[in-house]
Amino acid sequence: MAVKLEPAWLEIDKENIWHPYTSMHNPLPVYPVESAAGVRLKLTDGRQLIDGMSSWWAAIHGYNHPSLNDAAITQLGSMSHVMFGGLTHEPATQLTESLLSIVPRGLEKIFFCDSGSVAVEVAIKMALQYWRSLGHTGKNKLLTIRSGYHGDTFGAMSVCDPISGMHEMFTGVLPQHFFADEPQSPFEGPWNEADISSFQDLLRRHENEIAAVILEPIVQGAGGMRIYSPEYLKAVRQLCDTHGVLLILDEIATGFGRTGKMFASEHADVTPDIMCIGKALTGGYLSLAATLCNSRVSDGISSASASEGDGVLMHGPTFMANPLACAIANASLELLQSSNWEEKVSRIEHQLKSELSACRQLPRVADVRVLGAIGVVELTEPVNVGQIQEKFVAEGVWIRPFGKLVYIMPPYIIDDEDLSQLTSAIYHAVSEPRPL
Ligand SMILES: *Cc1c(COP(=O)(O)O)cnc(C)c1O
Repeated sequence: MAVKLEPAWLEIDKENIWHPYTSMHNPLPVYPVESAAGVRLKLTDGRQLIDGMSSWWAAIHGYNHPSLNDAAITQLGSMSHVMFGGLTHEPATQLTESLLSIVPRGLEKIFFCDSGSVAVEVAIKMALQYWRSLGHTGKNKLLTIRSGYHGDTFGAMSVCDPISGMHEMFTGVLPQHFFADEPQSPFEGPWNEADISSFQDLLRRHENEIAAVILEPIVQGAGGMRIYSPEYLKAVRQLCDTHGVLLILDEIATGFGRTGKMFASEHADVTPDIMCIGKALTGGYLSLAATLCNSRVSDGISSASASEGDGVLMHGPTFMANPLACAIANASLELLQSSNWEEKVSRIEHQLKSELSACRQLPRVADVRVLGAIGVVELTEPVNVGQIQEKFVAEGVWIRPFGKLVYIMPPYIIDDEDLSQLTSAIYHAVSEPRPL
């Protein structure tokens, strides 16, 4: 087979385009994609890669899905966008109805926005406005746990892990919040009550300053791919109630079945006051996110007097509730709910557990963790992303590690054989005697 040359436009990419978390000097290689279908990405040179990333948790049904394509085309025929100030549309109300039927009980009001980071900003704003309307202006700090990730905008950055969160350089610029030690008790296995003591201590000492606790339920994603005990989350909810603090759960990565439950908070049977969703909401087609809250929060905000903000939630992105994105999200939710996703995710979980466990014996491997359709191999040393990526591409898989973490969260539609290719590529890469 003749190998095609690199496309000429790759030069423009190299010279002019910023990729995530990269420098314009010596950028790492990027691979040009021509198309994608099912679980395969097709590169411009004809090579096909099995996708292990779901394009960062989003493409849960795989790429180029006929029902999602149809939903997009149909919606384009009526309108792709219309402003949400003073106008409304059925794709948004239908999506609201579907979402309210699956989110934890009590979440009743929804604010649609355009990305996960913005959903986090809105959640923070809701919490601050809530206490302000009640006259508690001193409650304007957040409490979170270390190793978290909540996005890259300034409010979201301020609650990312202060060290691994890549935001050290903004110390002094970011608002200062409280950081408790992250839980050490694993998802399965003994729960150590001492895990909660740092959190409990901060909450006790600062309850009059803290508006809300924000954290990722059960799985901490980009901050370290840690999977922790549901007991911790239960204790967090109880302590929030005891100390009069709101609970914000960031389900942007974990939502829509990824951990084996529709939302990760269900592992602990915990209901937040405010919840953020995004990523898989449109099945990976378009950027859409949302912040939901219960009526306690919405009543609090809405009953404020003129001097406290007149009862309005002060947010309104240009593309909020974009009809095209809402229509695709509706189709994606329908597809998910009619797809036997629980069985699919559980099958992936079993296979990941059995196939990745072989990595445990390897000298460079520190830990192997699996929950739902998430598999993580943590190494003792950081990988060289450029080199390991090249090796993965040569093996026909798309896996993008960061730091010490080699991890996959494939589309739910992946079959056993393709999943085995992903796990064996990981095994090969981490068993190299020379660190890649
Ligand atoms: C990805 C992510 C975000 C940020 O979402 P963007 O759409 O990238 O802005 C926030 N929180 C969590 C837990 C995430 O995984």
